[in-house]
Amino acid sequence: MKVATIGTGYVGLVTGACLADMGNEVICVDILPEKVDLINQGKSPIYEDGLQGILKRSVGKNLKATTDLNTAIENSEISFICVGTPSDGDGRIDLQYIKSAAESLGKVLASVDNHTVVVKSTVVPGTTENVVLPILEKNSGKKAGEFGVCMNPEFLREGVAVEDFMKPDRVVIGQYDENSGKKLAELYKGFHCPILRTDLKTAEMIKYASNSFLATKVSFINEIGNICKRLGIDTYTVAEGMSLDHRISPNFLKAGLGWGGSCFPKDIKGLISHAKELGYEPKLLQSALKVNRKQPEILLEMARKKAGSFEGKRVAVLGLAFKAETDDTRESQSFPVIKQLLDEKAKVIAYDPKAEENTKAEFPDIKYAPSAEEALRDADIALILTDWEEFQNLNYSGMKNKIVIDGRNIVKNRDGIDYTGLFW
Ligand code: NAD
Repeated sequence: MKVATIGTGYVGLVTGACLADMGNEVICVDILPEKVDLINQGKSPIYEDGLQGILKRSVGKNLKATTDLNTAIENSEISFICVGTPSDGDGRIDLQYIKSAAESLGKVLASVDNHTVVVKSTVVPGTTENVVLPILEKNSGKKAGEFGVCMNPEFLREGVAVEDFMKPDRVVIGQYDENSGKKLAELYKGFHCPILRTDLKTAEMIKYASNSFLATKVSFINEIGNICKRLGIDTYTVAEGMSLDHRISPNFLKAGLGWGGSCFPKDIKGLISHAKELGYEPKLLQSALKVNRKQPEILLEMARKKAGSFEGKRVAVLGLAFKAETDDTRESQSFPVIKQLLDEKAKVIAYDPKAEENTKAEFPDIKYAPSAEEALRDADIALILTDWEEFQNLNYSGMKNKIVIDGRNIVKNRDGIDYTGLFW
């Protein structure tokens, strides 16, 4: 099929690239010419395993990028809106990019027939029907039905986005009408997974409910861990014992510094805020958020107990990305840790295999080391904040004081160091 993706971030570019790899003809649209240029050179603007390879295979054949939305829509049957929906200051989602994309799309739809618009961005229930659809109708002068409308939430995880897109657990298709859903289902017909067809707002809610559940599950085990730590019980054995119950499962039961990234924090805050607007106080979701916010403070308190005041101390911060295998630092739990260290006048030297550039925007003045070993050189204390595999077996011999606080239960070689695990 002929497909356009609007927005070439993690979701838009992965969607476009994977659909091209499956043989569709894809045009990726972005407002940023530098991203478009990179993609057209076969280079990925983001780090995602497997993405670069697909771009190399497809660009110049059945995948291209452009800033020209009109041409992209005129040459496609389905377009996916994949622009960002960031949090505003109050936790509500900011719809400015969605509205602007829908406005531009609507104008092109005035002269294009047989086109289906699919909202893939994460939006609170009701947004596709009550915000996007009216903008499309107003700007096209057409009624929904004359063009198709779907909501198709994306469940990919950064770091394994290509694999998740290609082999999803399920595809959810929220449809305005039968024809719209049928068209989108056609695109997914090669996927070996359940395809659930719903109405628009149910599809939107499935995404929020899924992310809120997973975030709550992590906060749950962190809460249990904080209790275990006081009791001298190994949280990881508790989690293992729990996860042998098939109703619980081991996934998202990994105690640690907590969750970050562009989705969990934003989505759980978005749902809390939307629920409040509807007159409901979502206490469980609020608690999950509170537990998560507390984890960096707990880690720092452990570090203070071991090393005393941070003032003038050289602190090696290992891990800046919100999780391993990504360069994404949005809402990374490392950031409140670094901020607090700087407030307490520590000398921070940071290292991350992929996320240094993204961190520089937030912390331009801290020192960055080219390797973990360099960061550890002469350090008074090391904080391990992201679960990169290379942090499993580090050489701590260059440290001044070998105090290591492990926020991710990742360190394997604990001999010869003063090791403290967040829950150990
Ligand atoms: P992102 O910020 O990485 O990318 C968004 C892109 O959209 C940017 O390149 C931006 O320049 C572009 N853009 C903005 N306005 C545009 C317009 N009018 N026309 C064309 N391009 C435009 O965002 P992302 O991480 O890919 O997330 C996109 C959406 O998908 C969000 O709603 C997010 O919550 C959701 N989501 C993200 C993930 C994830 O892991 N990142 C997973 C599932 C769902």
